[in-house]
Amino acid sequence: MKDTEKLINPQNTIALIKEYEFSFKKRFGQNFLIDSHVLDKIIQGAGITKEDTVLEIGPGIGTLTQALCEAAGEVIAVEIDQDLIPILEKTLGSYQNVRIINQDILKLNLGQLSEKPLKVVANLPYYITTPIIMGLFESGAPLVSITVMVQKEVAERMQAAPGGKDYGALSLAVQYYAEAQVIANVPPNCFIPRPNVGSAVIRLTKHLEPPVKPRDEAFMFRVIRAAFGQRRKTLVNALRNDQNLSLGREQLEAVLSEMGLPATVRGERLSLQEFAELSDRLLGQV
Ligand code: SAM
Repeated sequence: MKDTEKLINPQNTIALIKEYEFSFKKRFGQNFLIDSHVLDKIIQGAGITKEDTVLEIGPGIGTLTQALCEAAGEVIAVEIDQDLIPILEKTLGSYQNVRIINQDILKLNLGQLSEKPLKVVANLPYYITTPIIMGLFESGAPLVSITVMVQKEVAERMQAAPGGKDYGALSLAVQYYAEAQVIANVPPNCFIPRPNVGSAVIRLTKHLEPPVKPRDEAFMFRVIRAAFGQRRKTLVNALRNDQNLSLGREQLEAVLSEMGLPATVRGERLSLQEFAELSDRLLGQV
């Protein structure tokens, strides 16, 4: 493969892997993209321009990174696998606007990565999707949006509305920070090796202001986690059984009644606004 050639096709990907005798590591969630239509959808969906600084998590052999370098002003690519660094040095060698960091993204101080507004774009390692996304939102990094390939079920959970089977703590956490929109569904044959699950590209556009303003954000998330900690339980039973909250049945039923909710309501019925109100009402009581 020539240094300037694009990776995004199966032949070039396989040739490069053979050339470097690279073996895929399942523990790092390595499934490399080989479909150019999907690549275009990610770049367009993320709305990348030459004004942008992009953080890519897990560049792999540099397939998506090459397209990002062409579309963006600057790219910061964080890759945990040391074996991929010499490959990235070759495949990204002709770009001057990329910085490769050989690190675990979960150990990096994300708040210090960039002072400029950041767009995150990645084909994520699925085993750590939630910690990566929550870590980004909670880091205080100047985020604009996160456009990522995730497992299809996870994308559905992120954009789920109250009442459905997919709605839960992840939906509420993501929707507190961002507006979620699925951009594309992606079948397993768009990757080498093929993952065992379907995938989807989702864009999370960070809210300028959060849609609710609970008195204590951390406490609201404690209530949300407790509410969904035990599925199929009523909200009263789920919260009553939570060791950290120590709330009584009557107390909880009284608060729900003040909010106009039945004593038998389940957590999956409550909107983000209702969780914010519930946590504000409970705050004085724990
Ligand atoms: N971006 C490439 C592509 O689209 O072909 C590779 C995507 S692959 C699904 C995920 C990548 O994330 C792999 O290169 C893997 O080594 C890397 N990775 C896994 N865990 C990581 C971590 N904790 N920090 C940084 N990179 C990680």
